[in-house]
Amino acid sequence: MLACSKNYLLHDKYLSLSFSSESCLLSLVDCAKSCIYMKFPNFSFSLFVSSVLSFLFGSREEVPMAERKRVVVVGGGVGGSLVAKNLESHADVTLIDPKEYYEVPYAQMRCIVEPSMAERSVLKHSEYLKTAHIVQSAAESVSGSEVVTESGERVPFDFLVITTGTTYSGPSTKAERVKLYEADKEKIVAADHVLVIGGGPVGVELVGEIVVDFPDKKVTLVHSGKRLLEFLGTKVSDKTLKWLQSKKNVEVILNDRIALEGLTGPEYVTKNGTHIKADAHFVCIGKRVGSSWLQSSDLSQLIDEEGRLKVDANMRLEGQSNIFAVGDIANTKV
Ligand SMILES: Cc1cc2nc3c(=O)[nH]c(=O)nc-3n(C[C@H](O)[C@H](O)[C@H](O)COP(=O)(O)OP(=O)(O)OC[C@H]3O[C@@H](n4cnc5c(N)ncnc54)[C@H](O)[C@@H]3O)c2cc1C
Repeated sequence: MLACSKNYLLHDKYLSLSFSSESCLLSLVDCAKSCIYMKFPNFSFSLFVSSVLSFLFGSREEVPMAERKRVVVVGGGVGGSLVAKNLESHADVTLIDPKEYYEVPYAQMRCIVEPSMAERSVLKHSEYLKTAHIVQSAAESVSGSEVVTESGERVPFDFLVITTGTTYSGPSTKAERVKLYEADKEKIVAADHVLVIGGGPVGVELVGEIVVDFPDKKVTLVHSGKRLLEFLGTKVSDKTLKWLQSKKNVEVILNDRIALEGLTGPEYVTKNGTHIKADAHFVCIGKRVGSSWLQSSDLSQLIDEEGRLKVDANMRLEGQSNIFAVGDIANTKV
C-alpha cells in the first residue's frame, strides 16, 4: 500500500508535465508495476477498491486531443486495466483484451462459494473506461508499429504496453463468467467430497473458502510439492498446513500428484497409488505466461526461458524505445 501511494505522488508530479514528456508514461508504468507486485495475502475487496480504484479516478489535467499519442495496451487484467485507465485522459488509448471485462483476481476463489460477489468483482471494461477504445479480441502479433488481432484488426500505436500476464481461456462475457461461478458453487453444494489439485495460493485459498462456507464437506488437497505455498517461506507453509489439518474434514496429501489428462472422477488415483473417491474436483495449478502470441513477431527474441519479456529498469523492452511490458509478463525480479 505504501509503495502504491508513494508512486502515486511521484506519478501525479509527472502528470503535471505534458504527456509529450515520455517520463509521464514511464511513471505510470512504474506505478502500475508497484501496484501489481503488492501482495494481498488476505483479500479485502474494499481495501483493493479504495487503494487501486481511488488511485485510478484521481483528478489530473487532461491533454488536448490533438496532442494525444496513440497508446495501445494489450491485456485487460490487473496491469492493463490500470494503465489504460490512468492514461485515457492523456493519450488516445486502445485496450485489447479477448474478454469484455476486468476481474479482481484476489476475489476469484471467494466468488466460487459466493457467486453474487462477482457482480462487484467482475467489471466490464466499458464501465470504468470513459474514452479509451476497447477491442475485444486476442492480440495475435506485433507487426512494425501495429498490433494485429485475431479478429483481423490492425491497431497502430506510438506507444505499446504489453500486459498479457497469463494465457486466458475463460468466458468472454461478464454474464458467462458469473454463470460459471454459479455452476462451480452448485458443484460444491452437490458434492460430499471435493478434490482440489494444487497447493499453491489458488488451491489453498479455494480449500479455505470451502472449509469456511461448507464445514461439513470433506476436502482433499493434493499437492506435488513437499510443502504448501512454496513461493512463500516455510513458516507460512507450516502454519497453513497446521490450520488445514485442524479442520476435521480436510486431508492434505503432499509430494504426490494426479494426472490431469482425462480427469473425470469419481475415482481418482494419485501417482503414488492413493485412491480418492470425490464427487467434484478443481484444478488449481499455475497458468502459462501469456507470451506465445509474440512468438511470430520480432519481439520473440526478447522472451526469456520462462516466457517473460526482458525489460529495463523503466519496464521498457530491451532495445525498444516505445514498447513496455508490465506485470507478470515482465521479467522483473520482485
Ligand atoms: C485466484 C488468484 C488469486 C491471486 N491472489 C493474489 C494475491 O493475493 N496477491 C498477489 O500479489 N497476486 C495474486 N494473484 C496474482 C495476480 O493476480 C497476478 O500477479 C496479476 O493478475 C498479474 O497482472 P497482469 O496484468 O500481469 O496479468 P493478468 O491480470 O493475468 O492479465 C492478463 C490479461 O491479458 C489478457 N490476455 C492474455 N492473452 C492475450 C492476448 N493474446 N491478447 C490480448 N489480451 C490477452 C487476459 O485476458 C488478461 O486480461 C492471484 C491470482 C489469482 C488467479
